[in-house]
Amino acid sequence: MRILHQLGYEDALQSAAIPICNFLCRDLTGCLIHNNALYNLVQKNHGRGFLPFERQEFLQILYDGLPDKSYIRTNARVEGIAQLQNSVEAKLSDSSTETGDMVLGCDGVHSSTRSIMWDFATRVSPGLIQVKEKTSLKTSWKTLVLMTPTIPELGERDLSEDAQALADLVADIWRRRNRASVIALQEGVMEHWHRGRITLTGDTVHKAQVHPNLAFGGNSAIGGVVTAINHIQRAVEATRGCRPSSMALSAAFATYESEQRQRLKGILEMSNWVAKMHTYVTYSR
Ligand SMILES: Cc1cc2nc3c(=O)[nH]c(=O)nc-3n(C[C@H](O)[C@H](O)[C@H](O)COP(=O)(O)OP(=O)(O)OC[C@H]3O[C@@H](n4cnc5c(N)ncnc54)[C@H](O)[C@@H]3O)c2cc1C
Repeated sequence: MRILHQLGYEDALQSAAIPICNFLCRDLTGCLIHNNALYNLVQKNHGRGFLPFERQEFLQILYDGLPDKSYIRTNARVEGIAQLQNSVEAKLSDSSTETGDMVLGCDGVHSSTRSIMWDFATRVSPGLIQVKEKTSLKTSWKTLVLMTPTIPELGERDLSEDAQALADLVADIWRRRNRASVIALQEGVMEHWHRGRITLTGDTVHKAQVHPNLAFGGNSAIGGVVTAINHIQRAVEATRGCRPSSMALSAAFATYESEQRQRLKGILEMSNWVAKMHTYVTYSR
């Protein structure tokens, strides 16, 4: 939130968010296990609460706030990256190329940039990226996500301890859905986040949200980008007007990786714990 505040997005996000007050956890019979005060406590303890909204809305707000939109390219997937002596050249699916000093790959859990980085690493340091790392993302959980229009009477239902009322509620939400999908929840933190002039961030290297209720994946991705950019900025400043060398970039990427990777491993552990709690893996009455 501090990052989004510094970028000037806080007001727009505050007014778009739909507040949540309760976090109800029930067992398989519908019986209430706990009503978590998390949302209110975060607001009370940190002065800022959770800001829930749809991802598309979030991206639109970020896009609307950009001072210059001309460098945003859509429908132009990265298909290849050539690492040259002093630059990189990204080949895009619309047959164009982009040239620059480095690539910060944030193309999600099925990242092409990560595969390209792995191929490069294998060429320059054979054996560095092992099959174990390439197959390290595990999927132990899936989640059903439903979106409905606003249902004003939803909050007035008394579910108390009644499983039938809960079943009716879920059935009602299902009937009124305008979108539903089952999403695989991969988990894992990669061991290698950079090679040459390519570095990676977000779900590409840390799919640590396991259970989305922890709400940490996107937040960690935003924090990761800022950490990476801060180290790159320092490397650029140190060159006093020249472009940073591959070695200087590599050193900046390495510092970013070691700072973030440890943190993300901790988050992964925490999200595992939350996932077990929410899926009753360790629950007994
Ligand atoms: C159900 C659910 C709920 C969640 N809730 C929360 C939450 O409340 N809070 C939170 O912080 N996190 C949450 N997360 C996690 C969060 O969505 C992710 O961690 C976050 O989106 C990761 O961002 P990213 O930019 O790394 O990847 P993505 O959001 O996956 O973005 C990757 C982008 O790269 C593009 N792309 C892919 N391949 C290419 C290519 N070859 N060339 C160019 N572009 C490409 C894609 O089109 C996409 O736009 C949730 C996740 C799920 C599944």
